[in-house]
Amino acid sequence: MEQPVAQTLTGIAVSPGYAIGHAFLLDRRALKIPRYHVDPGALADEVARFCDAIAASEAQIGDIRASLIGQGDEHELILEAHQMMLRDQTLMDGVTQAIEQKQVNAEWALHKVVRGLKQMFDHVEDEYFRERRSDIHFVGDRIMRNLLGTAQPMLSQIDASAIVIAHDLSPADTALLNGSAVLAFATDVGGKTSHTAIMARQLELPAVVALETVTEQVGAGDLIIVDGVSGRVIVHPDDATVRHYQGLQRAFLRRKASLDRVALAPAVTRDATGITVRGNVEAADEVPTVLTAGGEGVGLFRTEYLFMNREVLPDEATQYAAYRQVVEQAGAHGATIRTLDVGGDKFIEPLRRHRELNPVLGLRAIRFCLQRPDIFRLQLRALLRASAHGTLRIMIPLISGVEEVEAVQALLADVRAELAAEGVPMAAHVPLGIMIELPSAAALADLLAARVDFFSIGTNDLIQYTLAIDRANQQVAHLYRPLHPAVLRQLAFVIRAAQAEGIPVSMCGEMAGDPFYAPILLGLGLVELSMNPAAIPAVKSVCRALSVADCRALYAEARALPRADDVRTRLVEWWLDADLGDSLPPEIFDVESRRA
Ligand code: PEP
Ligand code: MG
Repeated sequence: MEQPVAQTLTGIAVSPGYAIGHAFLLDRRALKIPRYHVDPGALADEVARFCDAIAASEAQIGDIRASLIGQGDEHELILEAHQMMLRDQTLMDGVTQAIEQKQVNAEWALHKVVRGLKQMFDHVEDEYFRERRSDIHFVGDRIMRNLLGTAQPMLSQIDASAIVIAHDLSPADTALLNGSAVLAFATDVGGKTSHTAIMARQLELPAVVALETVTEQVGAGDLIIVDGVSGRVIVHPDDATVRHYQGLQRAFLRRKASLDRVALAPAVTRDATGITVRGNVEAADEVPTVLTAGGEGVGLFRTEYLFMNREVLPDEATQYAAYRQVVEQAGAHGATIRTLDVGGDKFIEPLRRHRELNPVLGLRAIRFCLQRPDIFRLQLRALLRASAHGTLRIMIPLISGVEEVEAVQALLADVRAELAAEGVPMAAHVPLGIMIELPSAAALADLLAARVDFFSIGTNDLIQYTLAIDRANQQVAHLYRPLHPAVLRQLAFVIRAAQAEGIPVSMCGEMAGDPFYAPILLGLGLVELSMNPAAIPAVKSVCRALSVADCRALYAEARALPRADDVRTRLVEWWLDADLGDSLPPEIFDVESRRA
């Protein structure tokens, strides 16, 4: 058989590592539902077509169930519920009647009936029944895809040697990938600090985004290589290329293992400054990964992931259990738990009410929470209750100024009084800190530092908002510059303001987890960093090889440079001149590739 021609696509490397496997194409784009008139004589055929789609859906779900049997998996119960729903007479009769009475095609009839059923569940008080809304959604989607001839396997059905290829993956999709042992993923769109990319690093899956046409160039089942170090995807690689990548893969894993071996040693610089390195997590069960990677507790728990992939919001008990788990597992170092950061590129199904033209500038994070005190108070209650079980710090995202801090403080005091009146145990003092991730907050850092217990700098958003670069948009990804002088000036001001007030300041954006930037960050005076757990061993190892005095000297030079490219070039030269021994594994951090 003729060998297909190898092809290389270039995108943005967002999570390091190499994967060789077969493509699994995932189409997440919304379905277009056709609507057309059906002549009375053809209505019986239309109903039959609908019955066929039901049968096909049942068979598919049956196959998936069979593959899960014996695993006692929660998925199995959900699938059983889906099968029962497919056999439900309400759905069958509803769609049949709609086809016959309105003389429309099966897709349109199904669309209408499913929408009506979902609306009915919206108004049901009982949480269990409201959750059934999501089952109706999934079942309706599966039947629809069978009618349209675009049936999709489920994410949970992906086999372990698959590389997921998609136009885009939402943070919710990526969260679902957690647990299904895929090898890597590659997408048409995205940027380095989009939440999908962050999730890939969190899961330690090699990933390349912004490939533009990967969904068109790759067919289901094609052999492909994802190079998460250089940002390439090779379709139909020849045998020599596969062997070359197998070698790179082995070297990468060897380096990683050697870094992991020293991960638990403290990150103390050559001139004896201790750097505190913490982990960012998206789920309560990720905390042990932080600790084994050498992280000193949790520096950022993104609670919004607890709100995703569910049709109703988590109640107080569910939230309390998750926060308590995080705090207990984090141990003496404690955990910084961030309140709900919904919006931007993170959608939460039950809260998706209005379409925003520009969600990144919309009703996001603390703005949303202050507008919905019912939801916010519940979260604060759960957090304060969890504070009784360990060292917990509460952090507020997307603060723009003093008013929001005061509003949160008032609400928190009120919730504390309410819990105290109920006799609920809580820690006597729970530090309240804020993310510095808006230019307005950076500009007011001195005023804010006087009012809160700590700062954590969210560079992902701070850079996005300072430079007006959508962090998830590949068209402007090349303009996303962490070393932009405007960004560096803000960082310097924020760090100085925190130091002047004597409050701790940390950085938890992706910049903190990239060893390349460590000399600049230490030179700026940062001694606390938080990052995805996989990055911890490399960053700690780099910190041990640096001296703060050298870093200060580097930053003193860098801050005088007028262009982002100048700073970058200087940093690359600095790295190349620095004699740092083995602390710079090229497979994990390739200085040459960082040239401007
Ligand atoms: C940030 O903006 O840098 C940050 C850590 O928050 P998130 O990535 O969740 O927006
Ligand atoms: Mg942010």
